[in-house]
Amino acid sequence: MKTQEYINTAENELLHTYNRFPLVLDHGEGVHLYDTDGKEYLDFAAGIAVCALGYGNRAYTEALKKQVDTLLHTSNLYYNVPVIEAAQKALAASQMDRIFFTNSGTEAIEGAIKAAKKYAYTRDGHAGHEIIAMQHSFHGRSLGALSVTGNAHYQEPFEPLMPGVKFAEFNNLDSVKAQITDKTCAILMETVQGEGGIYPAEKDFLEGVRALCDENDILLILDEIQCGMGRTGQMFAWQNYGVKPDIMTCAKALGCGVPVGAFFMTQRVADKSLAPGDHGTTYGGNPFIGAAVSAVFDQFEELQILSHVNEVAPYLAEKLDALVEKYDFLTAHRGMGLMRGLVCTIPVGQVASKALENGLIVITAGSDVLRFVPPLVITKADVDEMILRLEKTFSDCH
Ligand SMILES: *Cc1c(COP(=O)(O)O)cnc(C)c1O
Repeated sequence: MKTQEYINTAENELLHTYNRFPLVLDHGEGVHLYDTDGKEYLDFAAGIAVCALGYGNRAYTEALKKQVDTLLHTSNLYYNVPVIEAAQKALAASQMDRIFFTNSGTEAIEGAIKAAKKYAYTRDGHAGHEIIAMQHSFHGRSLGALSVTGNAHYQEPFEPLMPGVKFAEFNNLDSVKAQITDKTCAILMETVQGEGGIYPAEKDFLEGVRALCDENDILLILDEIQCGMGRTGQMFAWQNYGVKPDIMTCAKALGCGVPVGAFFMTQRVADKSLAPGDHGTTYGGNPFIGAAVSAVFDQFEELQILSHVNEVAPYLAEKLDALVEKYDFLTAHRGMGLMRGLVCTIPVGQVASKALENGLIVITAGSDVLRFVPPLVITKADVDEMILRLEKTFSDCH
């Protein structure tokens, strides 16, 4: 089949929930992707911050193949070794005490919400607690996750959603304070807002929220689904601030392409939280995802991903700053590590589409942000090449 035939067929089969770019991807190598016509693309999207190791990392793919030949699935009625090892590595990296593996980010959020509600229920002897979430946040598409996603446009058709959710303004401590009541059980936020437009939490804000939580026995839930797993130069973004959550969610790069998420908690929370019968999953934490997560953590160590990110990210930041200086239609640059956004006054969707013609994959965030979430293994030479292809794209857009 030719590209256009694939696209036409897909549009007749798949539910139309995405306006996809007209690109049929076939394979990847390093930080490059190739379409079914053999055209090469430099990938600065990583499957939406998922493919942290890029493509074709042999140690990772061999670990997956080995597990495929050994055992894929057992259910959670039994133990399995790969997930025990994966949990050990994830807990060591996060300084958390307990982990529950899910199949996606949105399910990790669901679990985190239930964990917080159960904690408050055990403590107070009754239900009816509230959660404070942030405006312009994104936590996923299931009804629970949608209920804490601060975007009226996403929510409206599906109302009524989960009750007991209040929204505060991100990076505004007074706004959070104003939403606290004696029913508040948790404050939930992304450490760096992703879909909303790449907004890092300010240090004072995060410290202030932590203090509010401590004063009122409220749980701090940090969503590290996009900003976690080394993207900001620490394994988890909150480690840059020294502000530890009580519950944390992770997904995207956790499996580097194998669908897996997780929610983590401290022992203090676990002691009063989910118990047998309260939560479960058929697939979650099976041997296959265990092998994947384990291999990801091993590769992070082997390739010293964190120090690599800390070396390349300032270079990318410098180059993006220079673009803001150079072009009138670029008004700001925000971000941390290898999670960056350029604010554009020209339509960002058009830039992302044009970039494909120049062999560059970038995505958007919010309504006016070009988002850069490349594989964490990119080099400075890849950054130079990206800037070249991006500037060519800018000249095409004018
Ligand atoms: C992607 C994302 C989610 C949802 O994860 P899925 O795997 O798509 O369900 C939740 N929170 C944040 C911050 C995300 O970036």
